[in-house]
Amino acid sequence: MNVTVRAPEAQETVQPIETDAVIIGAGPCGLFAVFELGLLDIKAHVVDILDRPGGQCAELYPEKPIYDVPALPIVSGQELTDRLMEQIKPFAPVFHFSERIDALSRTSDGRFRLKSDAGTEFLAKVVVVAAGGGSFTPKRPPLNGIEFYEGKSVFYSVRKIEQMRGRDVVIVGGGDSALDWTLNLQPVAKSLTLVHRRDDFRAAPHSVEKMRALVAGGKVRLLIGQVTALEGADGALSAAIIKTNDGTEQIPCNAMLPFFGLTMKLGPVADWGLSLHENLIPVDTERFETSEKGIFAIGDINSYPGKLKLILSGFHEAALMAQAAYKIVYPDKKLLFQYTTSSSSLQKKLGVK
Ligand SMILES: Cc1cc2nc3c(=O)[nH]c(=O)nc-3n(C[C@H](O)[C@H](O)[C@H](O)COP(=O)(O)OP(=O)(O)OC[C@H]3O[C@@H](n4cnc5c(N)ncnc54)[C@H](O)[C@@H]3O)c2cc1C
Repeated sequence: MNVTVRAPEAQETVQPIETDAVIIGAGPCGLFAVFELGLLDIKAHVVDILDRPGGQCAELYPEKPIYDVPALPIVSGQELTDRLMEQIKPFAPVFHFSERIDALSRTSDGRFRLKSDAGTEFLAKVVVVAAGGGSFTPKRPPLNGIEFYEGKSVFYSVRKIEQMRGRDVVIVGGGDSALDWTLNLQPVAKSLTLVHRRDDFRAAPHSVEKMRALVAGGKVRLLIGQVTALEGADGALSAAIIKTNDGTEQIPCNAMLPFFGLTMKLGPVADWGLSLHENLIPVDTERFETSEKGIFAIGDINSYPGKLKLILSGFHEAALMAQAAYKIVYPDKKLLFQYTTSSSSLQKKLGVK
């Protein structure tokens, strides 16, 4: 992916990132908000819990065709995401993937302070909540006592590949995340075992092929079976017990990554002091502003009379939100309405002139 992605570790010792806008959520509406803000010279950082852009489109239905995006008679969830990423390239947004915005508050100078669960802090003039159905939260495997290992030796996402260097890693699952991390971690792990309940994978075929080549070369072990128990003490895993067709195996390991899919929960959005109605954020339909001036909400997370949870609604909301955000980011400037077809200044920003 040819975009700017900030790793949280690069920011641990630095000051808060100062920016015009922070967009919470890299779903289709958050991505299009980058475009609409960018046309108005508003620079954005985008934060998402997921390790890639696209929100529901990329996570829940990447291969399903969508038929009601204007001018695209048929487009898959992943292709729509890829096209949006292409469209926003001229505005060079900075992405912070695998990070969840936990805290949002106003500062004494009227800006907003945001903090992610990885410790990244932002100071922004406006905030765009494009959090869709809320936080994607990993499904926890039904294993006794797994919670004692979470964050210490059981991980649902990988923030730093280095964290896995030299470890005996067990990855559980058969989707894209399980396969991607098998391929990414194999070179750094001491040993890597992939466990899946059947010898049939939902992941992209080229990833499955690469995984099978690593298995054939003896670099990855593939076990068809199910993890039934964990062994270890004080949060440090020492083995995973795997039930296979041939019996039970004890796999020594000190890191386990279960990828059992994700569910959506409202998550920290509920703690930011915004008015909520049935877990959605009410907004006006002129600016798509929340109960807090300067905090906007677009896409599936907002509500107003007649709201339709459709991608095209979120695109429209992004355009109007950007007009309102401009007045906060540039209070002394007058905003001129311009078409991209005829405005040479917009075309310059888009890099086509
Ligand atoms: C199976 C299926 C089929 C669909 N088909 C269609 C269709 O044909 N046409 C159509 O128009 N719509 C369709 N939809 C609906 C469409 O996908 C949604 O309307 C759209 O994804 C909403 O976009 P969004 O950007 O608002 O939110 P989302 O796509 O939900 O993205 C929100 C993002 O915010 C992130 N996030 C949430 N909280 C935080 C936080 N605190 N910190 C950091 N990140 C956070 C989430 O991880 C997520 O990635 C479909 C939905 C599903 C599930």
